[in-house]
Amino acid sequence: MSEELKNIIAETKKQLEHLRVLGVEGIQVTAAPVVERRKPVIPPRPEPVTKPVPSASVAPAAPVTSLFGEMAPAPVKLTPSTETFEQIHAEIGDCTRCPLHLERTHVVHTEGNRKARLMFVGEAPGADEDIQARPFVGRAGQLLTKIIEAIGLEREEVLIGNVNRCRPPGNRAPTTEEATTCKPFLLREIAIVQPRVIVVLGNTAMKNLLDTREGITRLRGRFQDYKGIKVMPTFHPAYLLRDPSKKRETWEDLKQVRDYLDSHP
Ligand code: URA
Repeated sequence: MSEELKNIIAETKKQLEHLRVLGVEGIQVTAAPVVERRKPVIPPRPEPVTKPVPSASVAPAAPVTSLFGEMAPAPVKLTPSTETFEQIHAEIGDCTRCPLHLERTHVVHTEGNRKARLMFVGEAPGADEDIQARPFVGRAGQLLTKIIEAIGLEREEVLIGNVNRCRPPGNRAPTTEEATTCKPFLLREIAIVQPRVIVVLGNTAMKNLLDTREGITRLRGRFQDYKGIKVMPTFHPAYLLRDPSKKRETWEDLKQVRDYLDSHP
């Protein structure tokens, strides 16, 4: 490969990475051979789909011509859902879908403002949550409430949920199977509310929402995407209780969330 071609590839990669960081999810290219360097064409944002569908669903991936042809799928967006939380909670019922039901006291549902612009997602209920049937009410929850207030919001203004709704014994992390069984209900709630930003708290929540193998230390503080919704990974408040020195980074992450919400009314 010639030096010039190597340089062009390196330059193109840099440009694409820059666009990706700016939130561009695809670019159009011509099929004809490129004879001169051109600025990439940024497609206009698609019009929001207004026609409701009966339940949480995902817009089919429309074929797009991208730089990488067939290799690059179209960005997947959430479409509006006509379900209600009540329907979802009724469907969950006295759940026995996974082994976590054996030792739980209560199923702990997502709570808060169902028109929230901001949502927090944790891992699974702990002992206090299991008793009170409410997410994030123990020590970690009290710290989460302070974090919410620090960015100028009330706890009642946001939505708070977990990947799993039953307490894992000894507060262990849910297994992949347990998380995969419960997560669809959370995703259906997200499709109803469609918050502007979701803050994922800790590794388990992040990995489950973003389907990534990256760790929280690497991804925290950098906006990610879940079907068109901005996702900010940050440390779990329980981790902050164990290592308060991490509060500074968490505050940096939350300030980004606050600034994003302020600039997207
Ligand atoms: N930790 C979580 O991840 N969720 C809760 O609801 C409480 C503690």
